[in-house]
Amino acid sequence: MNTVSFADLKLAPELLKALTESGYTTPTPVQAQAIPVVLQGRDLMGGAQTGTGKTAAFALPMLQKLLPHASSSTSPARHPVRALILVPTRELAIQVEQSVRTYAKHTKLRSLVVFGGVDIRTQTPHLKTGVEILVATPGRLLDHIEQKTVQLNLVQMLVLDEADRMLDMGFMPDLKRILALLPRQRQSLMFSATFSNEIKKLSEDFMNFPTLIEVARSNASAENITQKVFLVDQSDKHQLLAQILRGDDAKQAIVFTKTKLTASRLAKQLQREGVSADAIHGDKSQLERIQALDAFKQGKTAVLIATDVAARGLDIDSLPMVINYEIPHAAEDYVHRIGRTGRAGASGTAISLVSPEEAKYLVEIEKLIKTEIPKERANLPAHAARPQRAPRGEHAEHKHEYHTPAPKKPAHDPWFDKPYVPSISAPAVPVKKHDEPVISKPKAQIPALFVRRPG
Ligand code: AMP
Repeated sequence: MNTVSFADLKLAPELLKALTESGYTTPTPVQAQAIPVVLQGRDLMGGAQTGTGKTAAFALPMLQKLLPHASSSTSPARHPVRALILVPTRELAIQVEQSVRTYAKHTKLRSLVVFGGVDIRTQTPHLKTGVEILVATPGRLLDHIEQKTVQLNLVQMLVLDEADRMLDMGFMPDLKRILALLPRQRQSLMFSATFSNEIKKLSEDFMNFPTLIEVARSNASAENITQKVFLVDQSDKHQLLAQILRGDDAKQAIVFTKTKLTASRLAKQLQREGVSADAIHGDKSQLERIQALDAFKQGKTAVLIATDVAARGLDIDSLPMVINYEIPHAAEDYVHRIGRTGRAGASGTAISLVSPEEAKYLVEIEKLIKTEIPKERANLPAHAARPQRAPRGEHAEHKHEYHTPAPKKPAHDPWFDKPYVPSISAPAVPVKKHDEPVISKPKAQIPALFVRRPG
């Protein structure tokens, strides 16, 4: 059991005040372990999944170390970038910067987030006013470096957050270019849910005898998440999903699909059935993704359908349920997906709809998490109006069926033949033009490109 308090960790009063205001009472295990190490100035390699409180684990000691540099001067020269936080996705960038800003609110330190997909010119003026903490996706940071709109020669702290995902997404060359531009004399921190050989190699290359901390087994899934598998034929999944979503537990849920097409198709189907659903995936513009996420966070949308890449880094407090409409083929993605629920000690439910064709992936997942997930056969009411399945021929997958449904032919909806058109289904959120600056609105919870100004 972890009984230390934030005050025991010797955090500065201005940080403690922000934590109290955020309702944090006790440090999470990763915070209790990482904060003293970072305050001592040591490099750190943290094995921590999303949902463990890892953002505060690096952001709090980082802010404390930068406090001597806090300045109320308006001169940009007094606000050079001193800490750089690199993250794989825009969504995570926004969330990390929002956390940094929350924890720094009683200090004079400034933070900013920059990411691709929005007009770079909207970010430059903010960079030029000077910020101590810069949160960035690697590609956009390189754009700024090329345009000489950012200087990194005074960076004293570097964080690579979700490093495994950065490598998965092919950011290694970008990371190397960025690392080469940073002062050698600096403190480096890396967080990763998994420690592959590639990650170990990366840590050897850019860290100096890092202290290793691991809060849970790197591939373990959270204990406070109730996991369940429904064995169901692929063609019955939609009906089962609708049934689960009508249940009492599913006030809000993230539904994961493997492909963008399934995500948009499901969102469309559910919308037609009167469920307030929206999809968030790579084909959507950044603004659409932010709007969809914001509507979901505000409870205006009940169901958010997401692909793995789009969902990476989503930080949604107290999300009670994650549903895997299709289970991921990479077992680690399962851990990331279900980590969207049961955050910071809350309890959550993760339901997976597994077709016979997916059974082999389920075996891999159970091996990885070292847990046998309770399984139940889907109990769907027979309904007369079911579409007909094509007659079984040699290639039919009847040997894979969990039960023998009435023959049906594949449903055909002309909508599936159309190219994907992003839906603007969150009318409560104002719709902006694609290239409009995403500058903070007075009260908006959409934090893109927000410069925290002192005072
Ligand atoms: P993270 O793993 O950094 O994405 O954090 C997961 C969630 O836990 C976020 O919503 C944080 O605001 C929340 N959180 C982080 N640390 C604490 C804490 N010590 N007490 C309560 N909530 C926390």
